[in-house]
Amino acid sequence: MIEIAENYKRITENVEKARSDYAPGSKIRIMAVTKGVPHEKVNHAVSFGIDLIGENRAQEFLQKHPFYAKKCEIHFIGGLQNNKVKYIIDKVSVIQSADSLKLISEINRRAVNSGLIMNLLIEVNIGCEYSKNGVEAGRLPVLLAQADELENVKLRGLMAIPPINAEENIYASMRRLYEDARAKVKQPDEFDTLSMGMSGDYVTAIKHGANIIRIGSALFGSR
Ligand SMILES: *Cc1c(COP(=O)(O)O)cnc(C)c1O
Repeated sequence: MIEIAENYKRITENVEKARSDYAPGSKIRIMAVTKGVPHEKVNHAVSFGIDLIGENRAQEFLQKHPFYAKKCEIHFIGGLQNNKVKYIIDKVSVIQSADSLKLISEINRRAVNSGLIMNLLIEVNIGCEYSKNGVEAGRLPVLLAQADELENVKLRGLMAIPPINAEENIYASMRRLYEDARAKVKQPDEFDTLSMGMSGDYVTAIKHGANIIRIGSALFGSR
């Protein structure tokens, strides 16, 4: 477990360097992505400073959640089936993987039932990959406008998983989509999150405006 502390230190140093090079003055959050990681390790990471964790799989999350240390913010970042929304709605503060009106309507419905407002990032399939979730860039404006009409969800930004070894222009176009979207939503001040960058590309993502980076293997070791 000592490794996790060392990994975290290295990542924070790299992030700090990238921030001062490319985004001085901005705040960049490091999310620990916990898929396949036992709860003891997650709690260990939280004990030395991680304050944001990301969950991919509803089933796995529900099993581990009772054992998590309480003080941590949790976002859902994985593919989410409509029938799983009700299990996670009161356990996470942001759903980063909202990518269809059907899913967002279900999130809104469950949020109404639970008397809460759910924060959403819209996931964009920026590389147009068949295998990936996310809305196509061309459909993003319509989806944003539709989601913006729902009372119990709040649009907070965009999320993306650029293709492996993607050219930098993919990251740049993601930032452009984010800024265009912010100019159009009803509450632009609240639309403040670009979640992009993982273990292999977080420096590039920070260069292009990411303010949440999602780190799994570089922190916890390879899966
Ligand atoms: C697994 C995963 C990550 C972290 O990936 P690493 O390359 O291990 O850092 C980030 N985001 C999502 C959506 C993931 O599924």
